[in-house]
This record gives sequence, structure tokens and C-alpha cells, in this order.
Amino acid sequence: MRFKDKSVVITGGASGIGAAAVRRFHAEGAKVVIADLNDALGEALAAELGTGRALYQHTDVADWPAVEALMQRAVDAYGRLDILFNNAGIGCFGATPDLDIAEWQRVINVDLNSVFYGCKAAIPHMRAGGGGAIVNTASASGLAGDYSFTAYNAAKGAVINYTRAAGIDHAREGIRINAVCPGPVDTPIIAGVKDMPGVQAIWDDCVPMGRFARPEEIAAAVLFLASADASYMTGAIIAVDGGLTAHTGQPN
Ligand code: NAD
Repeated sequence: MRFKDKSVVITGGASGIGAAAVRRFHAEGAKVVIADLNDALGEALAAELGTGRALYQHTDVADWPAVEALMQRAVDAYGRLDILFNNAGIGCFGATPDLDIAEWQRVINVDLNSVFYGCKAAIPHMRAGGGGAIVNTASASGLAGDYSFTAYNAAKGAVINYTRAAGIDHAREGIRINAVCPGPVDTPIIAGVKDMPGVQAIWDDCVPMGRFARPEEIAAAVLFLASADASYMTGAIIAVDGGLTAHTGQPN
């Protein structure tokens, strides 16, 4: 019960890594606000938990007023805001000449601007409560480049350095800000590519551990960073990637 009575907002909480984090925070005693665009999944997860410690709020994380309202909802419902997991994200294929300006902007809005909006909206509430912890979902794709994934690579790379900058800005206020960098995780975001014939085996082979992560394996690292066990960690960038970014890419 590391998070007993902690008030936690999780964006992208209806699916994948976010949903795994929602379940684990809740199981460890937290009061959770699930934020997502997918109302059916978000409402169902809140109903499944259904103990008065879970609620769903429809939120577009790329919309600043909606993100401000989300943090206020947590404070209105639970009296405070202790932890924010900035996790919602989308992907988009395309090398530079092929990428529409609108697609680039959408990925930057959802994957990068959302993280700034979340921190900007949450930090005043955390200050009022005497401290807090924020975990941002970056990616192994923010530490190095992928073929034809330029907008996502740019957004996640920026999330990483934003996390460092924000982490040091708020270090003396008791607000810790860290990021996780997942490698491939078995969630709906990559199902369309992963399920193409033969792709899963090729992809598994790129990962030293030889498999995708389960969403729960990323959530475990997120909960560690959000917990008192990580009390001396801020601005840290943690790879949770089965060894992917430890590898030069040269053959075995
Ligand atoms: P997912 O698709 O299962 O979950 C993403 C959630 O974000 C969905 O519920 C979706 O509805 C929500 N979302 C999308 N746009 C939103 C918006 N504008 N406002 C609010 N919610 C929105 O995928 P996932 O793998 O759990 O992704 C979670 C995070 O992990 C993302 O930031 C993703 O980039 C990152 N990530 C995933 C992988 C992977 O391989 N799955 C690897 C590295 C990083």
C-alpha cells in the first residue's frame, strides 16, 4: 500500500501502459483519476475498480483548458494532487518529406505539448500540497532514431530533455519529475504493425531480451519512480526496454 490515500492522475489511463498503472496504483491504495479520449474503456475501468477511489474524466491532453480542468477535478474529488503520470501518446509514420504538417503538429501536440500542459497544471496543486511526483512516458524512440518515425522521435526526445529541465527547476520544492523510456510494449498502439506477418519475430530479435514488455512491466517502473523509494531521484531518464538501447545494433 505504497500509495494509500495518494491522489493520482493518469493520462492515457484507459489502455495499455496507462491502464496497467491505474490498476497497480489503485491496488496499492491510491485514489485515481483516469484521463483519456476513449470514454468506453475509461468508464469501464473506473466502474471495474468502483470503490470510490476511481473516476474517469474525458480529456484531450493536447487541449490546455482540458488539462487544467483535469487537475482541478482530482483536487475537487480527492482534496489534493500528489502524483501525475503523463502517459497519453500517439505514433505517426513518415520520413520528413512525406509527413504532412498537420500530422507533425498533431504528434507534437499529443506527445510533447501534453507533457508541458500536464506539468504546468499540476505543479501549482503539488506546491499547495507540499510536494509531489510526476512521471512522463518518453520512449526508447526518444533516445535514438527509428526509420520513418520522425515526429514521434522528435517529440519523445524533447520529453526527455524537458523532464531533465523541469526536474531541476522544481527539485527544491519537493516535486520530483522523472521519465521512463519503454522499448516495445504489447499494447494497442503498435498492434497494427506488430501483427503484420513476420514482423513480431523480427522485432523480438532486435531486443536483447528477445520479447516485448508487458504493460505491467512498464507500470512497475513508473510506480517505483512515483514512490518514496525514489525520494532522491529527479530529472532521471530510466530505460525499461529489455536492453534495446544498451545494444549497438551490431549482430550477435
Ligand atoms: P495505448 O494506445 O494502449 O494507450 C494510449 C492511450 O492514450 C489510449 O488509451 C488513447 O486513447 C490515449 N490517448 C491518445 N491520444 C490522447 C489524447 N489526445 N488525449 C488523451 N488520451 C489520449 O498505447 P500505450 O503503449 O499504452 O502508450 C502509452 C504511452 O507509452 C504513449 O506515450 C506511447 O508513446 C508510449 N510508448 C509505448 C510503447 C509501446 O511499444 N507500446 C513504447 C514506448 C513508449
